[in-house]
Amino acid sequence: MNRFTFLAVSIFLSSAATLVPVGLCVYIAQQDAHRREEAALKTFADNAIIRAEIVTKQAEQAVAEMERLPQERCSPLHLEQLRRIAFTWRYVQDAGVYRDGMNLCSALLGAAEDRRLRLPAPAWLTRNGFLVWFDLDNPFGAARKSMLIGRNGNYVSVDPGSYVDVVDRDARLLAAVDTRTGNVFSATQGVDRQLMMTAWQRGGRMDDPVHAFVIKKSDDLPFAIIVEARRSSSFANWKALLTVWLLVGLALGLVLGSLVLRVMSRRNSMGWQLRRALRRREFSVQYQPIVSLADGRCVGAEALVRWVQDGRPVPPDVFIPLAEEQGLIQAITDQVLERVIAEMSDRLRQDPRRYVSINVSAEDLKTLRFLNVLTARLAGTGIANAQIRIEATERGFLDVDATRRVIQAFRDAGHPVCIDDFGTGYSSLSYLQSFRFDVLKIDKSFVDTVGQDAASSSVAPHIIAMAHALGVQIVAEGIEHADQAQFLREHGTQFGQGWLFARPMPAAEFLRYLDRESVPEHGVEIQ
Ligand code: C2E
Ligand code: CA
Ligand code: CA
Repeated sequence: MNRFTFLAVSIFLSSAATLVPVGLCVYIAQQDAHRREEAALKTFADNAIIRAEIVTKQAEQAVAEMERLPQERCSPLHLEQLRRIAFTWRYVQDAGVYRDGMNLCSALLGAAEDRRLRLPAPAWLTRNGFLVWFDLDNPFGAARKSMLIGRNGNYVSVDPGSYVDVVDRDARLLAAVDTRTGNVFSATQGVDRQLMMTAWQRGGRMDDPVHAFVIKKSDDLPFAIIVEARRSSSFANWKALLTVWLLVGLALGLVLGSLVLRVMSRRNSMGWQLRRALRRREFSVQYQPIVSLADGRCVGAEALVRWVQDGRPVPPDVFIPLAEEQGLIQAITDQVLERVIAEMSDRLRQDPRRYVSINVSAEDLKTLRFLNVLTARLAGTGIANAQIRIEATERGFLDVDATRRVIQAFRDAGHPVCIDDFGTGYSSLSYLQSFRFDVLKIDKSFVDTVGQDAASSSVAPHIIAMAHALGVQIVAEGIEHADQAQFLREHGTQFGQGWLFARPMPAAEFLRYLDRESVPEHGVEIQ
């Protein structure tokens, strides 16, 4: 998976991880709120229908009472009864008599035969024989329409407003609709009648995120009540809510993705693995014997750090420069020292003429830190300071003044200092004059060419001569062949190190190697 795909996938996954639960919660909460609201609306609609039916029932009862009146119709006594009825029944506004489509008289109109008030054909005939007229103009010319319910020549007039006249704290809108024509015949103030009619046609299923519609039909009468209510606001805009969370999820995904990516690429980097190896103390040390070229006996050993990562050894030439770059080299030096003391202190105590040489880096030569660590660690071990040598490479001589002081401090403390890889740097000769040291290690590249015709083959004898002039010991590195050893010996090199004598080996093996030979006659003398 490349970085881009990885980033895309992690953005997607974290967005999904953020979004799915939030989306689900919003959805469930929204559904729940929906259900509750719908239930509340249904109850409200039920109550409204009951109310509307009470109005109708009263009208019917009033008409039935009129039918039982014994007086002659429209006589003064009958009119008086009509007025009583209109007054007694709460929702009845007028009670009257009609014949052949003509209004004869009523409680409000009095005798009206001569006014020729016409009744249109009724809109509906109920199951129990009542006629219903909707939307009638009233004889007083008032803006409000009337609704009449009648039977056998008697009628009462009802204010359609009483069908929807329900006190409601939530200010829900109500409309009463004629179920056969789909016309709204009564509605509370503020109702969009057209919208209510559409709601009726669609059975209340409106694509409206803000409003909910509920319809309740009357059992007996041809009308229905439609309730319109605002949805509770928090979930009305759930789509916007989801969008916001989608953005949050995306941003989170981006952050998480790049974080994981960074952690992963750091994990994969050798720097990170070096750090981990340091934490876990995964570095080990091998010891390569340094021998006296005169008799081949071991005088000491160079400690060489080893790192096996995932079963594969990583060459120090690879990880040492990286550790230097990442500022980890001092920690490595410390762990090497720790190992050397743990593995070699017994042997060094028994064998005070032998030594172990430790490689240090430029950082270790800038300050006295490592010398202080070394001193502290050696305290109480019984190891003499002279038994721990310091190998400094020319690469470490960047800050010449500081290095000179530190090298001198090591020497003052009794630790012999070796100049490693001598001759490979360009300033070798110039610092030879300004540094005081104890051992000069001739680099393998010069040892490789001795005895050959190459121009460089003449370098080794010069270095040897120089070392003699300076009065320092010489260790020739990387001796692989007997004739190299012989040449070097003949030219006055005292010590050698290389596969000809022994390869670097783990502590236990090195101890066995030492056991096989007795202590050399002449140990190492430091001048
Ligand atoms: P170096 O200090 O010059 O160490 C000698 C290197 O030559 C070692 O390589 C050793 O195994 C190798 N060698 C010895 N004899 C022969 C031979 O006859 N033939 C051949 N071909 N090679 C031989 P190694 O162990 O791979 O270390 C490489 C370099 O890594 C060292 O060069 C040193 O600069 C650095 N190094 C090793 N251990 C440490 C350490 O603990 N601290 C520091 N700062 N650097 C270290
Ligand atoms: Ca070395
Ligand atoms: Ca070397």
